[in-house]
Amino acid sequence: MNSDDDESMDSPETSSSTTNSLKGIKIFILQAKINPEVMGALMDDAEGAGIKLVGRPEDAEIIVTEIRMRKRLERHMDWEVAKTKPLVTSAWLTSSAKAGYPFPCGEFAAVKDLAGETIRNCPDSTTCKGCAKCFSNSRSSSMQLTPDALSPPPNPLSPPTFSPATGVTLVSDSLAWDLERAKDKFDNSSRYACTRLCPLVCPNQGLVEELRVMKQARELEGEPRSVLAYSRAIAAIKSFPHRITSERQVTDLPYIGTKIGTMVADYIRTGHIPEAQAFSTSIRFRALKELTSVHGIGPLTARRLYDLGLRNITDLRNYYGVNPDNDSQDIESLTPDDIQDGKESEVGIKAVLRVYDDITTLIPRAEVEEIARCVYAELCVVQKGCAYTITGGYRRGKLMSNDVDIVFTHPTPMVDRGLCKKLVERLRSRRMVSHVMHLSSFRAPSALRKSQWDTLEKALTVFRLPPETKFYDGGKRIHRRVDLIFAPVEVYWCAVIGWTGSTMFERDLRQWTKDKRGWKFDSTGIVKLSNSEPVLATSERHVFELCGLEWIDPTMRNAD
Ligand code: ATP
Ligand code: MG
Ligand code: MN
Repeated sequence: MNSDDDESMDSPETSSSTTNSLKGIKIFILQAKINPEVMGALMDDAEGAGIKLVGRPEDAEIIVTEIRMRKRLERHMDWEVAKTKPLVTSAWLTSSAKAGYPFPCGEFAAVKDLAGETIRNCPDSTTCKGCAKCFSNSRSSSMQLTPDALSPPPNPLSPPTFSPATGVTLVSDSLAWDLERAKDKFDNSSRYACTRLCPLVCPNQGLVEELRVMKQARELEGEPRSVLAYSRAIAAIKSFPHRITSERQVTDLPYIGTKIGTMVADYIRTGHIPEAQAFSTSIRFRALKELTSVHGIGPLTARRLYDLGLRNITDLRNYYGVNPDNDSQDIESLTPDDIQDGKESEVGIKAVLRVYDDITTLIPRAEVEEIARCVYAELCVVQKGCAYTITGGYRRGKLMSNDVDIVFTHPTPMVDRGLCKKLVERLRSRRMVSHVMHLSSFRAPSALRKSQWDTLEKALTVFRLPPETKFYDGGKRIHRRVDLIFAPVEVYWCAVIGWTGSTMFERDLRQWTKDKRGWKFDSTGIVKLSNSEPVLATSERHVFELCGLEWIDPTMRNAD
């Protein structure tokens, strides 16, 4: 690979800069949707950290807001001004003040439509337009990228660590990984994302955000081949370790052809991809994006609803007859027995619309951990001796997640059949699960199915922490999306890897295992394609070894 932009790779020693301190940063807190008590606490946090609060958004380097939607924001500030600033949630302020340095704005983007701008306008990246120095060496980024810093706190209920019946280890062996030493083993021109290092935030994150708009536009219009092309290009750029300053640098990367190459060149020249900019402002794109942000509404349904004239969440609420303000009313809900396997119902869409504002609010790591602890405590009542791993974006190091993904198992083979349903019933009776959007049960192996472990039991739920916990939003129990997955112990690590993501990492892992081993890998296990014989892995590293892959820490699997 060319290294003609090596000057951007300052050594860690020289990278400490004013951007690593909160002192003197000018912040505007938009008061709308923040209650006076919380406002007071935020101002205290800011003052304690030496932040300078300003009275007008125009004068701020960072804007803190609890508003998520463009329409609502426009009632309080000029959209043209908003586009030039990073807009972050109040969690950015509390987390940064606590840490004593600014966290990357992109991880706390408040307004989805301005996520790209928020990354680009973050003080870190305005200093040097997203160079490797800021993203790889700043204290805030390294905090995301060091596996040790991300290890969850010890569990008070101490789950088991080993399954004697199968030899499977039940605790993650992903810790103690030296990223610097591992780097030499990887080649960013490899065609498989599972053989490249992809950090959460890469040196070319602004470009990635623009390409994500392109990808999403193709998704919304139902063009899967084009979606895959963009996904691959994004994954390739995610693993490129330097800031791209010339198109020449990316011509050696896989999946960057003439078309995407031109977009990269445009981005280098102007900081934008013209087509992505056009989509971002197009009424159709914005509407389809908002409609599909509701779990259960896919691009096809969204396009149908768009043709009926629906444009936003308010339109959807009117269409489905949902009243969002009826907080006291519990979500209308089916019992798990009512829900047929795999059927996403209108009831699910209605449930999401009722709690839409809640479930589009990002979840900080501490709350993810608290949710997992609470769920696990209830699981212990249903079945003693289970183990779990929090997977998904949390495990890949995201500071803020859209949902919580937890994979469970039990050390005794065959014990866990039907446990998912029992756990969901228990959580429902404790008023923690307010809605089940999908519940699929374990299906016994059958001659018709290729894999011995055909499907995992899983429940996609809407969840609220019990009232006694510390995570309140102005005294309200905020609804969260929680995915619960049960894996038989023999395939626990395949399930954990499968549910850790990212999606492109998984995709290429499946492809790699098929191409190099002749095996089928997915979250339900590894099977030899020749004779359907299962391959047993006793730990997460063992899965990598069996597949012939160098170990990659979850924090470096961010290929999307
Ligand atoms: P965030 O939740 O913050 O948006 P995420 O990466 O956790 O980010 P999820 O949609 O929660 O996104 O998915 C987590 C991972 O689980 C994905 O990367 C995907 O590989 C896997 N996954 C999601 N849904 C399924 C499914 N139905 N079957 C198998 N694996 C899935
Ligand atoms: Mg998730
Ligand atoms: Mn999920």
